[in-house]
Amino acid sequence: MWPSSAEDQRGTRPHSRRPGAARRSCSPSPSGSGTCVHWSCIPTNVLLASVHTSLEARELAFVGVLTAGDDVDLRALRDRRKSMVRVLAGGVAAALRHAGVEVLEGRATLGSPSALTVGLCDGETVDVEARSVVVAAGARWLTPSLPGIAADRILTADLVQALDTVPASALVLGDGPADTAFAIEYAFLLAALGSAVTLAVPGELLIPALDAELDEAVAAMLATFGIELLRGAEVLGGQGAKATVSHAGGEAVVAADVVVVADRRVPSVDGIGLAAAGVEVAGGAIAVDSSCRTSSPGVFAAGDVAGGAMLTAAALHAGDVAGTVAAGGSARTRLEAVPHVLHTLPLVGWIGQGEDAARRSAADVAVAIVDLATNARAVAAGGRDGYLKVVADAATGEILGVHVVGPAADEILAVAGTAMQAELTVADVAAIVPWHPSLTESLVQAARLLAQ
Ligand SMILES: Cc1cc2nc3c(=O)[nH]c(=O)nc-3n(C[C@H](O)[C@H](O)[C@H](O)COP(=O)(O)OP(=O)(O)OC[C@H]3O[C@@H](n4cnc5c(N)ncnc54)[C@H](O)[C@@H]3O)c2cc1C
Repeated sequence: MWPSSAEDQRGTRPHSRRPGAARRSCSPSPSGSGTCVHWSCIPTNVLLASVHTSLEARELAFVGVLTAGDDVDLRALRDRRKSMVRVLAGGVAAALRHAGVEVLEGRATLGSPSALTVGLCDGETVDVEARSVVVAAGARWLTPSLPGIAADRILTADLVQALDTVPASALVLGDGPADTAFAIEYAFLLAALGSAVTLAVPGELLIPALDAELDEAVAAMLATFGIELLRGAEVLGGQGAKATVSHAGGEAVVAADVVVVADRRVPSVDGIGLAAAGVEVAGGAIAVDSSCRTSSPGVFAAGDVAGGAMLTAAALHAGDVAGTVAAGGSARTRLEAVPHVLHTLPLVGWIGQGEDAARRSAADVAVAIVDLATNARAVAAGGRDGYLKVVADAATGEILGVHVVGPAADEILAVAGTAMQAELTVADVAAIVPWHPSLTESLVQAARLLAQ
């Protein structure tokens, strides 16, 4: 949470304004960067990158490369994660310094729409006045309490990242208020590292935001890694390292040295003075309009604290919009087409609506599905399974969603996202000349099927 510009600050205690001013530090995220760099996207992706390399090493013989050893050294992995986080956090700190942003590290509380108090880590407080304020307080974990399961066995994703040893067994809870599905990544990560993993999802679908037709492909991927899947699941309780789970097929007692939650995050709206500033909270998140304005003039909110997609991609975009509008410009968020990629093997990714969701909102929907086993690049790279599905408005050709289980889902979604943001139709995408061989060819192929 910070005032919209250094010029707006008129602290009651004098403090430095020069660009790159020294920080007062003791924050868990020193550098001005938040959860993504320190506790979620980056550490998770660093761990997943190592796991992917190790899994690819097991497949090297398949593509004609002989090697020895594919074990993961957890200590080396932890050191790499820490050093990557340090490098990226340093990059954010440098960018802030370069932009002349003064960083006050501590807890900020709004007293009114234009005044806040920052309790610095050294115990001092600084009062700051601002013409406009952007609240970007993120989200907090909602750790479940499960009868009979000791609290120290229930680990949030950030605690999993810090483990010294791989737990023999893990029950991963695939539920959370947001459509984020990071539980799938953590089930995959732990299984690939050697845990016996059970994934318990509350509904019939693994990932509600993913097109239902691709659900089985995700389930097959999880089965490849020996992950036991319980649908329609609810943890009834546990004893020691066992948990009892009721699920669509009955009741199961599963090994659970640890219970892992990766998606249970809710906007951090408490204790930051929102009521004093007249900022309305709706459904647990700060209510904002498409320009990130809250109900209180001069106060803006962006990122997880405003709910919605709860992804860094969305937070960065909304932050840009909030900053622009707070500084007197005009801008609107476009959060309908935020890509989401799970770094499993193969990757799982989606942007926009799946077929069922599209049929609820559009009159006439057309879909095309391409088997990625027919894609030369996927085959050359050793990928064997995968599907890409494009959902479009049959009348206008507007692309409503692209959903992928397969290699380079991130590459495909980058192109799909660009097309959707630019409001290209399936006919426009069908006319793209993609590199050959590339995964993008399959997107163009699906668009051609729809444009016929
Ligand atoms: C396991 C996991 C993996 C994820 N992986 C990805 C991914 O690969 N890609 C992706 O796009 N998203 C990912 N996300 C989501 C992503 O982490 C969040 O959406 C993103 O960090 C939100 O950014 P933000 O700026 O809104 O909040 P944050 O990054 O949480 O920043 C909020 C900051 O505000 C601080 N703060 C809170 N209250 C106060 C206060 N009163 N005073 C001062 N400071 C305060 C917090 O300490 C924090 O540093 C992942 C999430 C999880 C849980």
